[in-house]
Amino acid sequence: MKRKEESYDVVVCGGGLAGLCAAVAAARLGARTCIIQDRPVFGGCSSSEIRVPVGGCGNYHVYARETGIIAELLIEERAKNHEPVDEGGWTNSVWDMVMYDLAMRTPNLTIHLNTAVQDVLLEGAEPGSFTPAEANTSRGYYFRPACSPSRRIEAVLARVANAELEVVIRGKHFIDCTGDSIVADRAGCEWRMGSEGKGEFNEIHAPEKPNCDTMGSTIHFKSKDIGRPAPYAAPDWAVRHDDARYFYDQGRYPYNVRCGYWWIEIGVPWHTIHDAEKIRYELTRHCLGVWDWLKNKDPRLKDKAKNYMLDWIGQVPGKRDSRRVAGLYLLNENDLQNKTTFPDEIAYAGWYVDLHTPGGLLAPTSEPVNADGGKADSKIMAKCYVGPYGIPLRSLISKDIDNLLFAGRNISVTHAALGSVRTMGTTSLMGQAAGTAAAIALRSGIPLAEVSKRRYGKSSRGSCATAPSCPASATRTRRTWPAAPA
Ligand SMILES: Cc1cc2nc3c(=O)[nH]c(=O)nc-3n(C[C@H](O)[C@H](O)[C@H](O)COP(=O)(O)OP(=O)(O)OC[C@H]3O[C@@H](n4cnc5c(N)ncnc54)[C@H](O)[C@@H]3O)c2cc1C
Repeated sequence: MKRKEESYDVVVCGGGLAGLCAAVAAARLGARTCIIQDRPVFGGCSSSEIRVPVGGCGNYHVYARETGIIAELLIEERAKNHEPVDEGGWTNSVWDMVMYDLAMRTPNLTIHLNTAVQDVLLEGAEPGSFTPAEANTSRGYYFRPACSPSRRIEAVLARVANAELEVVIRGKHFIDCTGDSIVADRAGCEWRMGSEGKGEFNEIHAPEKPNCDTMGSTIHFKSKDIGRPAPYAAPDWAVRHDDARYFYDQGRYPYNVRCGYWWIEIGVPWHTIHDAEKIRYELTRHCLGVWDWLKNKDPRLKDKAKNYMLDWIGQVPGKRDSRRVAGLYLLNENDLQNKTTFPDEIAYAGWYVDLHTPGGLLAPTSEPVNADGGKADSKIMAKCYVGPYGIPLRSLISKDIDNLLFAGRNISVTHAALGSVRTMGTTSLMGQAAGTAAAIALRSGIPLAEVSKRRYGKSSRGSCATAPSCPASATRTRRTWPAAPA
């Protein structure tokens, strides 16, 4: 195993849309920035590996639209991509290349693809000396209290797939956009996973009692019309469906034969982080079972599906729900419903409170809104509408580690609020804000928490290269992990 070391102003971990927007924003403001992404392409759930279309406030509020870096990407995509806009349609390799091109064109930005962050080095703690505490369920959901022996991250340790190479990446500020929050977890930050009960914040969509349930993960499929019959025989290990009620009476509508579906989803009884491979296996056999139903049995669609062949099936499950890290402010559903105004508002959101039924395909029905017929004027849907509402910068700043931000589905929110904030138009805005905040903190020589207290206009332009470096990180002794075995 080889080892190399690098050093940056801002280190962004995770290259989903939140991470990419964070990295581009920080680099554009002059911060020497590095983005570390464990997959070969950027975009996370939106990439061609998973194919979730970008959504956000604009889907439910006709006058709203996410702008900034995400708008640049989406405009560029339409100029270059000729795939029709469809669920999983346009999120193809052309989209991957649009994101890659943006990263390549951004000065000050170093890219590490196929590189997974594995560990965190804390200032003042000997490498390998700190093992974060396990989560407990004393609150009813998974809860991991803060347990860090330090308030600053010095470096992350990342491993490049297929290269027998480890990279120690030092930074002044770190932004955790990994979805599962591996950086925050390894650094000993407080986090929650599962659902708060009504008793904690009295949220409309909170269950009576807290629980460890999470929304599930999904794989998509894509098919194509080959102009002649395309017979399909499912393997023996695929799930067998013979009952139309499972689809049509339980909110799992097969709405087209070209691609789908968000409801090919499985979570509990499995843990969305530790059982990810088991979930992928289960989703694969369910996905093929659904395709078998469409092709060979569905009375409404089998004729339509006759000339369609299965062209692609995802093998990287898209994840909706895991750890949410404790920030300086915990956004809850009441903030969404009441449209709380925050002085440090950095993004807005407005997808409905879209809480999927735990268990997904294994549950009696899909999510309540769709099990109810997906009607826009239903009572269930009316209760879920929110926004546009604001997200405060404090929900992106760690309360436990002074040089750590997060952006994406892992920000400081309750489970009910995650139901709305997690869409990628919104996470992109968060990412841009996190990168901007990190660059401002560096340039001004102030702590991240201080950025949320100040207001910044156009006059704050400048370069991090000429700014004083963050005082706390300037003159520490350099340490590193013990060398890995050759
Ligand atoms: C099936 C499905 C349908 C959905 N429908 C919609 C929709 O219609 N519209 C919408 O906007 N949103 C939708 N969502 C929600 C949305 O896709 C997610 O909430 C969103 O992707 C979360 O963004 P993120 O950046 O936090 O995470 P991700 O998009 O998951 O990005 C995290 C990135 O970090 C990388 N990473 C993870 N661990 C490491 C590590 N150790 N080192 C380096 N990199 C790492 C991952 O490879 C990934 O690229 C859907 C989600 C699913 C699963």
